[in-house]
Amino acid sequence: MTDKFHYECNDCGKEYNSDKVMYLCPACERTNQAGQPVKGVLKTVYNYAKIRSQFTLTELFSQLKNESYLSILPISNLKSWPKLRIGNTPMFRFGNLGHEELGFELYLKDDSQNPSFSFKDRASALVSAWALENGIETIIAASTGNAGSSLACICASQGQRSVIFVPASAPIAKLTQILMYGATIVPVDGNYDQAFNLSIKASEMYGFYNRNTAYNPLTIEGKKTVSFELFSDLNQQIPDRIFVPVGDGVIISGVYKGFEDLLELGIIDEMPVIVAVQAKGSCNLVNNIAKEVFTITPSTTMADSISVDIPRNFHMAASFLKKYRGEWTTVTDEEILMASVSLSRSTGIFAEPAAAAAFAGMLKYQELNKITQGSKNVVLLTGSGLKDLRSVQPCIQMPVAIKPDIDSFDSIFGSELR
Ligand SMILES: *Cc1c(COP(=O)(O)O)cnc(C)c1O
Repeated sequence: MTDKFHYECNDCGKEYNSDKVMYLCPACERTNQAGQPVKGVLKTVYNYAKIRSQFTLTELFSQLKNESYLSILPISNLKSWPKLRIGNTPMFRFGNLGHEELGFELYLKDDSQNPSFSFKDRASALVSAWALENGIETIIAASTGNAGSSLACICASQGQRSVIFVPASAPIAKLTQILMYGATIVPVDGNYDQAFNLSIKASEMYGFYNRNTAYNPLTIEGKKTVSFELFSDLNQQIPDRIFVPVGDGVIISGVYKGFEDLLELGIIDEMPVIVAVQAKGSCNLVNNIAKEVFTITPSTTMADSISVDIPRNFHMAASFLKKYRGEWTTVTDEEILMASVSLSRSTGIFAEPAAAAAFAGMLKYQELNKITQGSKNVVLLTGSGLKDLRSVQPCIQMPVAIKPDIDSFDSIFGSELR
């Protein structure tokens, strides 16, 4: 029993008060997109009235490292938090891109500057801290690459053991990270969805704690911390629009949950518009929001981190988007690659394709004149470009090597540089 928070099923609304391991709603049964029985994802609901009576609003906002901030996280001790720097990533403001004046405020929240170079560290850190407080030594996860390399990283820093299931085809940098951090890696000859199901069977069989996204409710609680930072980075104002890359729909639900907590605490009185950006080759989440019957189109995008057939957090993400009048758009792989090049060249931030997709979504909005003058627009850059070098090879060309003399240099580069 805990009086700090309880869980509420996103789908059936049933509530649970538990300080034990919980995953999906034990009670609810419905059939999913593929016709199999599934259970709802749990949302963590705090005793907001009590928190409001205990802390001032400024106290709540002075970032983690601070006891009051802990009151809106499901852990109880700062000592369980990893020593690495999780979150508190920089946000950069750009008034122009290259020579182009934007006419609106563009903010890039650079979450590639997390310990394992992706946004996923926010979730891994919280799951790991909770495990530490509850005497759990081994954490298991299925991943397209980033969640796995993140969990491996955070567990290494906390003296915990991790077991990571990944599609064998994941980008080599992500696989290398997992191995370097000393995790047990289980490459699966199959896709992410298959690795996901296998990891759940393995965690049941061995009794390991499972970090799977849209399965373990705490990942959302870790991810929501970005919203608290955005709010404080913008001097306690909400942005007009936040572009978020979407695969399973957990990051976007985390962003919503963070702002919803602020709403419940009376710190903000309206929600920002959140724009879900999916790859056109993997858009089962946005494609099905308005549909009665869920249809699945197999994913084909090269943006591996947002390539999913069955968006695991569909119901929660869709209900947030509907409830708070969110928007959505899709971008082609070609647009993602072009956005990736333009982002690197005009801002110095090299993002992985999934993250560049959010930037591509912003560019699309700009092209369609959907961004009003003077508005504040945030793009969530969720992962580093160094994690997937292969995808961008078609956009670059390495010149042939020259002889180390000035004449060779001048004959080849002279005309371009003079
Ligand atoms: C996981 C991930 C996403 C998508 O998050 P979902 O919760 O699956 O929607 C986007 N970008 C990067 C870099 C990721 O690792």
